[in-house]
Amino acid sequence: MRLFIATLGTETNTFASIPTGLADFTSQLWSEGCIETLPPSPWTVPCQRWLTNGRAEGWDVVQGLHAFAAPAGTTIGADYEFMRDRILADLKAAGKVDAILLYMHGAMVANGYDDCEGDLVVRIRRQVGPQVKIGIELDLHGHIDESLVGASDIIVIYKTYPHIDHDERAEDLFQLMKRTLAGEIEPKMGLFDCRAMGLFPTTMDGPMIAFTAAMFACEGRDGVLSLSLNHGFPWADVPLAGAKMLAVTDGDKALADRMAREFGERFYRIRKEATLPFTSFEEALAEARIKGDKPLLIADTADQTGSGAPGDTTYVLRAFVDAGIRNAAIAPLWDPLAVAICFQVGVGAKLRLRIGGKFEPYSGPPFDGVAEVLFLKRDAWQHHIGDEKIGIGDVAVIRVEGIEILLTTQRTNLYSLSLFSLHGISFDDKQVVSIKNLYKHKDLFIENTRKQLFVATPGTSNPDWAALPFERLPRPIWPLDADPLGLDG
Ligand SMILES: [Zn+2]
Repeated sequence: MRLFIATLGTETNTFASIPTGLADFTSQLWSEGCIETLPPSPWTVPCQRWLTNGRAEGWDVVQGLHAFAAPAGTTIGADYEFMRDRILADLKAAGKVDAILLYMHGAMVANGYDDCEGDLVVRIRRQVGPQVKIGIELDLHGHIDESLVGASDIIVIYKTYPHIDHDERAEDLFQLMKRTLAGEIEPKMGLFDCRAMGLFPTTMDGPMIAFTAAMFACEGRDGVLSLSLNHGFPWADVPLAGAKMLAVTDGDKALADRMAREFGERFYRIRKEATLPFTSFEEALAEARIKGDKPLLIADTADQTGSGAPGDTTYVLRAFVDAGIRNAAIAPLWDPLAVAICFQVGVGAKLRLRIGGKFEPYSGPPFDGVAEVLFLKRDAWQHHIGDEKIGIGDVAVIRVEGIEILLTTQRTNLYSLSLFSLHGISFDDKQVVSIKNLYKHKDLFIENTRKQLFVATPGTSNPDWAALPFERLPRPIWPLDADPLGLDG
């Protein structure tokens, strides 16, 4: 057997101003056919697994381009075309292949392309013909429609949010592809539009736990091979956005359609209780003034880089200072210029520094203050699952008005508590800590916080969907429309 593997992904916030370009891919993940030489990370692990598994089967595994960028605004059209054409050329150069496995995020939008994944896979299908099997792994915050389903054979999507199953789903997809190539199964896919948008964590108390368990329980039984709920990415104004339910069955298209509808409607019925509740900025600040036995954790959700925001707003810093809150920490905050100045003056120096508020109209004003440089580190990183590492560029930790701030040269989220512990910031003794995250950290902080709030701060990724200037989103869609499927009764 001959297997071709490649990676192409980013998550596009069409409301964000910072364009995504080739430099954003080369600085995060760029490998021209040698993914095994890179350290494990969420962007490398699926293809590393397919390479290892394929070789263990005695297959010839050929690699194309692997490219992944952090979420931001619309990808530059010519840069998307360059990467797409590179993968198509790599595939052509590979000669005859039996199967293709692609790791993509989903929700990549480029100038002139609402659906980069669909465009790429349709072109791949056209190039290789109907016989070659195509398998795709996606993040659940993607967009998916019939063009991607029609051009591929098997799609497997993450089941967990926070995302902790990219490796397991890569394994699922590999096993399904192996059985398909052996002639044991004949995958058929069905897709159901749930007519809903939002954020639906799978680990908070609530109905998504049972829903996810039900998907697992159905897989591998009665002809059902795989079930995936594509949650969708809510900050994208494109016609294919929204939650969709995908079913893959063995040789039975009608069953796939039926299962997709059954689980899609089941999800629709729990959507209101399943959606992430946000706290207003005012309520969060009132809570932050209270001194507890453990820190309050504030997720500064509208400025989190994971949904395409710059990660450089200072609204929370300003609010803490104005409220007289001193024993606090804020991390991470993207400001390469301030980091460079801190490296110039060195640890222990005090200087007047302009912080944040630089990179897009939603960034708001910078904060001007007297900063003491506490800690510096080049090529810093944080831990992720297992031995995965997330590079965050150079780091400078400063103290301003008693508040410790971790500045980075690379846009990032908090992935683990190592963001504090590796950079000289104590966590447990703070009154309040604010992080530029949405939800992925929730399970990390259960023991050592007195409360966690997901706060509707000002910023690019405003969670008040009704306030966003959608023009091309398919309607009706919940929560903008009350009951699009008419199942609320
Ligand atoms: Zn995601």
